[in-house]
Amino acid sequence: MMLLSVLKEIYSQSETEKGHFMKRCLILFSLLALLTGCQSQTGTQAVQRDVFAMDTYMTLTAYGTKADAALGTAVERLSELDTTLSATDPNSQVYAYNHGDKQALGDEAAALKEQALTLGARTGGALDITIYPLVQAWGFTADVQRVPPQEELDALLAEEQDTVDFGAVAKGYAGDVVTGLLREAGVTSAIINLGGNVQCVGSKPDGSDWKVAIQNPTSSASYLGSLAVSNQAVITSGGYERNFEIDGVRYHHILDPQTGCPADSGLISVTIVANSGLLADGLSTALFVMGLDDAWAHYEAHDDFEAILVTQEGEVYLTPGLRDSFTLLDESYTLIEVLP
Ligand code: ADP
Ligand code: MG
Repeated sequence: MMLLSVLKEIYSQSETEKGHFMKRCLILFSLLALLTGCQSQTGTQAVQRDVFAMDTYMTLTAYGTKADAALGTAVERLSELDTTLSATDPNSQVYAYNHGDKQALGDEAAALKEQALTLGARTGGALDITIYPLVQAWGFTADVQRVPPQEELDALLAEEQDTVDFGAVAKGYAGDVVTGLLREAGVTSAIINLGGNVQCVGSKPDGSDWKVAIQNPTSSASYLGSLAVSNQAVITSGGYERNFEIDGVRYHHILDPQTGCPADSGLISVTIVANSGLLADGLSTALFVMGLDDAWAHYEAHDDFEAILVTQEGEVYLTPGLRDSFTLLDESYTLIEVLP
């Protein structure tokens, strides 16, 4: 019965709404599966909170006696971060900054800006948080669907921008804040899902790894794979996340700062596994823009992350550190493990 009404609802929705709805269902089902798995194994009670913030459905799950109070604090912090960092909320510090008040950023937003700029420099500009006017030109800030004329893009690319858009890093940063809060409060087992960005504290209550499902970039019917992790952030960027179609062409929300257009690098999904959510979120966007060769070179030049890179040809490149923890679930993809 429930399945029937879910299907009915899907059929009565528009294309983009369908995408959002399917995504929510997927997240819900994966979390339910995760929770039932954990409870039946250990008997430890899970405490769960659902929040809508940063344009995303978030689910926070924690275990143990400290969980309830800690999650309450975490939820408050999330909505506070939402109001501070949003590019579209007229009450946010970022909005004020982008509209001319260069004193508007408080300590936290200013520190995040510096960290994101440093990470942007490390990626050779593939991650560029000053990109806000371009994001706006494509209508992604207002959910308007438009393809800006080339002259408009050229003019924006030529200008030096003093704006900020934390879209590529805010959820990863928020995940760091929340997992930090939970740890400080004495929680040793928790998993938070911020719209597909998963960050965990410790391992499952029974001591085994969390199993994180990796979204399939070409189908919402199955997962690409699953990853066994503890204590880490698993963050994915994909063109399927937010996009629209005009005259048969699909445009997505990850822009190449060099062209001002949706990145067309041959990668369709990038998952980063790292200790820091901010790093993982920023790099998932940046490596998506870079494409396979530059992304791989970036991996070889640094030792603070692992990655799953999916090409439009259906190849899944796995960095050596994930060899034992990744399981491919969709057999239509070819797994390519590269020797260290
Ligand atoms: P999601 O928010 O779907 O998880 P990302 O983390 O990849 O996806 O962030 C995409 C968002 O970041 C866009 O909606 C936009 O606001 C912003 N953005 C797009 N391209 C870039 C870029 N090259 N550098 C920095 N920010 C970007
Ligand atoms: Mg990102």
